Amino acid sequence: MSSAQSSPDPTTGAYDVVIVGAGFAGMYMLHRLRGLGFSARVYEQGGGVGGTWYWNRYPGARCDVESMQYSYSFSDELQQEWDWSERYAPQPEILKYANHVADRFDLRSDIQFNTRVERAAFDERANSWSVTTSDGKTVQAQFIVLATGCLSNARNPDIKGLENFKGAVYHTGNWPHESVDFTGLRVGLIGTGSSGIQSAPIIAEHAKHLTVFQRTANFSIPARNGALTDEERDAFRKNYPEIRRFAREVARNGIYAEQPDRGALDDSEDARRAKFKARWDRGGLTFMYVYNNLGLDLAANDSAANYVRGKITEIVKDSTTAKLLQPNSHPIGTKRICIDTDYFATFNRPNVSLVDIKTNPIQEITANAVRVAGADHEVDALVMATGFDAMTGSVAKIDISGRGGEMLNQKWAEGPKTYLGLMTAGFPNLFIITGPGSPSVLSNMIVSIEQHVDWIADCLVHMRKQGLATMEAGREAEEKWVAHVNEVAHGTLYPQANSWYMGANIPGKPRIFMPYIGGVGVYRRICDEVAAKGYEGFVTEAEVQSRRVVTG
Ligand code: NAP
Repeated sequence: MSSAQSSPDPTTGAYDVVIVGAGFAGMYMLHRLRGLGFSARVYEQGGGVGGTWYWNRYPGARCDVESMQYSYSFSDELQQEWDWSERYAPQPEILKYANHVADRFDLRSDIQFNTRVERAAFDERANSWSVTTSDGKTVQAQFIVLATGCLSNARNPDIKGLENFKGAVYHTGNWPHESVDFTGLRVGLIGTGSSGIQSAPIIAEHAKHLTVFQRTANFSIPARNGALTDEERDAFRKNYPEIRRFAREVARNGIYAEQPDRGALDDSEDARRAKFKARWDRGGLTFMYVYNNLGLDLAANDSAANYVRGKITEIVKDSTTAKLLQPNSHPIGTKRICIDTDYFATFNRPNVSLVDIKTNPIQEITANAVRVAGADHEVDALVMATGFDAMTGSVAKIDISGRGGEMLNQKWAEGPKTYLGLMTAGFPNLFIITGPGSPSVLSNMIVSIEQHVDWIADCLVHMRKQGLATMEAGREAEEKWVAHVNEVAHGTLYPQANSWYMGANIPGKPRIFMPYIGGVGVYRRICDEVAAKGYEGFVTEAEVQSRRVVTG
């Protein structure tokens, strides 16, 4: 186990690496770098570790990947010793786990909390990054790693009059640390993505009345959460080597589960219904993996979508509400599928109502109401479950300038461009963890985080051994990769939805399918092959001669 605090260079005060963010990516990156003898400094804007799990403290927040799999695999002692209590861990438990990891590997001494990285500028003469933080200080580092998270830039939409609302306004992605009590209050919830769908049932239990404002009806599958038994935990622990291998190399989404061997239309209608029922009864994300073509073939997709629409009709008693809750604007799964506990049944409660804001968008928020189609829905508090400027939002908040003073935001104005999602041309020695162009949000994030961190760690060791001063994405390799990411996405149904994968939730954001949909196993092999071929497609510069060569 590595621990000891990193010391900057005694003469220059420079670090080998600056890491931005102390979520699951930043913490593991720090741990790996220390073990390899690199000095590293982590800056974290929050007051503690955990990233997304530090900020998303809304009622009902829990992970939709099973706890035994949504956990680090790099330390066998850790995975053997940590006891997850439930099939899907609630947010406080995941945050506790993050804190446990920080303590266990003695990470905090290299993390500066409550500090935002505001600027990073590449100095071409020194071949190093100058990193300026919100405390007004600037440090130098040869490398910078953006571990800024994909769903970390919570966003309040621009709704007329929001500033006039007299009650409290909460955002699920930036929830207060103290407990919020909705008892006796009329609560308005705007947004019906994963966060809205998880929080609605819990808010409804406490509030006097809950009004859900729905723009796009969403597909949701029951979680079937429950306590994990010792036997279930032991079964995972005994089989961890195979489970982790399978998640990394075989499963497209980094989750160990039974893999589909056929398309939906290869089965008779009865057989299909039986399989959908079995998955629905089992619950969880793997509903989409009952067949191998639900993301590819619209007729196959319709069969799954119709099944879920039928379930909504069965659960929701009021037929008008049931109809409104049935998604009909996108194929199932093309917006991130939601996992819920009693979401649809919540609409059977007498204190819950649904307001359609697709047909009639919110006109205005007044001091005490949300006005829709001329009617005022009075509320005492508002919960915005309106999502994030995903994948690029937190990178864009940092002023990053590369070679020739080129600004990253300008380079990405037409959409993010990366080679392998790891680096972007013109910005040497800058790595992104689970960036656009990598499987990232389409996968079990921890699997993808560990893969990227390990790849970057190996790359830095390679550079040290070879005496390389810089490495960056080659322009041609980057263009080819961006084209490949696009081509693979457009062979699927995903681009048909106005999703945050496409940047569609942010007015003015370019419509590009950002993550790589080729699957984590395929992607890992590509990354490994590139490295094995001497980092093919990357451009390197040697330390002494300052000679630029295209490798591979
Ligand atoms: P989201 O999926 O982007 O949902 C945002 C919701 O707000 C959508 O219903 C959206 O409607 C609505 N909305 C946005 N702007 C609006 C406006 N101006 N007026 C009215 N409605 C508006 O955000 P999220 O629910 O926070 O989830 C984001 C992602 O985080 C998830 O997809 C998932 O990957 C992750 N997450 C995971 C978990 C988990 O592990 N269980 C939990 C929460 C989040 P439209 O659809 O019409 O845009």
